[in-house]
Amino acid sequence: MPTSRPRRPPETDGERFAVIDPATGEAFDEAPDQQPDALDAVIDRAHEAWRGWRADPATRATALRAAADAVEAAGADLAPLLTREQGKPLAESYAEIARTAARLRYFAELDPGPQPIADGRPVRSEVRWRPLGPVAAIVPWNFPLQLAAAKFAPALAAGNTMVLKPSPFTPLATRLLGSVLSTALPEGVLTVVTGREPLGARLASHPGIRHVTFTGSVPTGRAVAAGAAASLTRVTLELGGNDAAIVLDDADVERIAERLFWAAFRNCGQVCMAVKRVYAPARLYPHVVEALARCAKAAVVGAGLDPGTQLGPVNNAPQLARVERYTARALADGARVVAGGHRLDRPGYFFAPTILADVPSDSPVVTEEQFGPVLPVLPYRTVDEAVEAANDTGFGLGGSVWGTDLDRAEAVADLLECGTAWINHHAELSLAQPFAGIKDSGVGVAGGPWGLYGNLRPFVVHRPEEARPTEA
Ligand code: NAD
Repeated sequence: MPTSRPRRPPETDGERFAVIDPATGEAFDEAPDQQPDALDAVIDRAHEAWRGWRADPATRATALRAAADAVEAAGADLAPLLTREQGKPLAESYAEIARTAARLRYFAELDPGPQPIADGRPVRSEVRWRPLGPVAAIVPWNFPLQLAAAKFAPALAAGNTMVLKPSPFTPLATRLLGSVLSTALPEGVLTVVTGREPLGARLASHPGIRHVTFTGSVPTGRAVAAGAAASLTRVTLELGGNDAAIVLDDADVERIAERLFWAAFRNCGQVCMAVKRVYAPARLYPHVVEALARCAKAAVVGAGLDPGTQLGPVNNAPQLARVERYTARALADGARVVAGGHRLDRPGYFFAPTILADVPSDSPVVTEEQFGPVLPVLPYRTVDEAVEAANDTGFGLGGSVWGTDLDRAEAVADLLECGTAWINHHAELSLAQPFAGIKDSGVGVAGGPWGLYGNLRPFVVHRPEEARPTEA
């Protein structure tokens, strides 16, 4: 049963691995390096806990509301730890914690009650939604808590239990979150495991798991799907993006520049649905490039714990090397640096916010997901050409259109091949909306009631209508 005292996260006798502060590039703590064979006992406990947890929706909803309160109350412990291991400004860590609590509250109120089937036959048929069992959640390092909550809030609300594995780059805030949630949830309902590969691979392919919900890169998503296929386990994959923003020729450049800039650079550009390419009409092109460069030069880059920081470091050394590689290749391809373009001369994984102009459309910084503080700006001649370029990608997460005539902008947005399109903003999601990337951006639907049903299976009961008593 839930306790008001947090349960300590499970310790292991074995190895631990270092956790790096990206603002210094140095280790500041360690996390348990749990081995794949430890999962058998964890998943057994998740099955045990499922018996009680699936029984009563009202009890679950009460526990999830209490969990949301506990997360908010722990904000002052969670936020600095999240910033320390992830790099984002402290205010953004607090916002992430608020979104974690909001998700718990939202899903606590969703009730997948029975649904009658009306087909004209004299049969009373009903769909009753049943939970699946233990769910495995594997998440990346860019929003460790909020992306975990996007998985555990609907899964637990649906009556499942969960084993949650954070990225080895950001294990600590998630471990603390698990401990905080244990004050409101029965033992075994949510277990956080930390460790390096092949822990995730084993979790994704474990035969005791009934649903694997993964957020991360496309190559890992493919590996997860292949692993889950062995036991034909259901998968939900939320993968990468290469979102385009199309600026129309009636856009008020000065008015939109800052919002467009932050849609690309928030969390140091490490957002799956960040703006990763800007298409501007030839007439406005110099103005758009110059306005974005002005924002890049004005952004305050620093350690996330320093007051006033707007942009933290890149999260980890391989990711920083990736950003440098894409930028160097763009320059070799003929791009022009208008702002940034280099690492900062200080310890840690800092890269100056970078605006690239005159980038060839086939340079990898345009065609692939670079996932960092770099933004290529490309000119176009006709709107048709811009839409074609925006859609000419293997990804399909989001996209946006920026202009003054909202009807015209919406008509252009309607042509984007992706899961979510925005007008004059980007990457702001509603808890109540379906979130579903197309093409390489994902499989399945998260968010809103659709996210809840993704964690349920339909069970159908048919019974004949009551026989009428025969008249005497
Ligand atoms: P990643 O794919 O390298 O890792 C994601 C998670 O998978 C981590 O926990 C990692 O430890 C684990 N993992 C690694 N190898 C594994 C394996 N073989 N089997 C199972 N698990 C394994 O991704 P990342 O670098 O941590 O995150 C960045 C990526 O995540 C970007 O592509 C970004 O677009 C994507 N992302 C997508 C969304 C979305 O909602 N669509 C949201 C955030 C991030």
